[in-house]
Amino acid sequence: MASSPLKKFTLFGSPIKHSLSPWLHQQLAQACGLSIDYTLSETPKGHLAAALAQFRAAGGIGANVTLPLKEEAYALCTYCDPHALAAKAVNTLWWNKAQQLCGSNTDGIGWRQDLNRHGFSLIQKNWLILGAGGAVAGILPQLLQTQPKQIWLLNRTLTRAQALAQRFPHPKMAVIAANTLATQTPPAWDWIINATSASLQQALPEPTFPSAWLQDARVYDMVYDLSQLTPFLIWAQQYGAQSVQDGLGMLIEQAAAAFELWHQKKAPTQTIHQQFLAKRP
Ligand code: NDP
Repeated sequence: MASSPLKKFTLFGSPIKHSLSPWLHQQLAQACGLSIDYTLSETPKGHLAAALAQFRAAGGIGANVTLPLKEEAYALCTYCDPHALAAKAVNTLWWNKAQQLCGSNTDGIGWRQDLNRHGFSLIQKNWLILGAGGAVAGILPQLLQTQPKQIWLLNRTLTRAQALAQRFPHPKMAVIAANTLATQTPPAWDWIINATSASLQQALPEPTFPSAWLQDARVYDMVYDLSQLTPFLIWAQQYGAQSVQDGLGMLIEQAAAAFELWHQKKAPTQTIHQQFLAKRP
């Protein structure tokens, strides 16, 4: 009897050659008894529509989307779920029975799930968020559900943070201008989230805030490095952070949420987290 062809999935973005997504999805599929083909599709900005058409014509079922294409993917979708609509960015694509392109954004869910799995209470906390790009847009809807005491948004480009705050109006959210940092009196931060891509450049995000703000905070960097802590997390450790955590868990959990959308099966991530824990320094 002829075996049915493998269901095809891919990741669009650039650069993606070091992405863990194919491995993660293969692990989840194996654990669920599924066989899939998950490839990497290096795609520059402006070329997603053509790449998607080619992928669909070759039998593609679903795709992930990463930098710099999440907004482009959002614009191409006929249907967006509430997560994608809130973020105005899409990281997971599939086609429905009517052949319409559908999109979701699993970054926020993945991030919250990663914090939840450590058993941290997220309710009524003080949050300092660095960055104002797609990743912050992805997590803000989740964050605003946690009855935050205060959220401060700090970004290199002030206008970008202001635009985000306008998109997600909330009485407890404030945008901080870099030139007022020295005179600010912040609350004791429960959480400091680095959602900039500065760690990819092995740098601390600019502008940096006073290191005293790190004392006793839980510090999270969305960037991950399998072999070492990011510069931001090293800095946080030096200045008394209560805990430091990078974005590997978020990556695993956002992949799991995409997997569940495509396969309608619960994605068992526990073993994957344990595998990485065993390997990491
Ligand atoms: P964007 O390109 O949309 O935004 C990048 C952000 O980083 C902007 O706020 C930008 O500031 C800021 N930035 C870049 N370089 C510096 C620097 N040297 N100093 C200070 N700020 C800087 O990217 P995303 O928001 O989509 O992603 C942000 C990071 O989060 C990426 O590194 C990405 O890999 C990571 N990420 C991780 C995920 C995971 O699963 N672990 C999921 C999603 C994202 P400005 O506005 O001034 O340009």
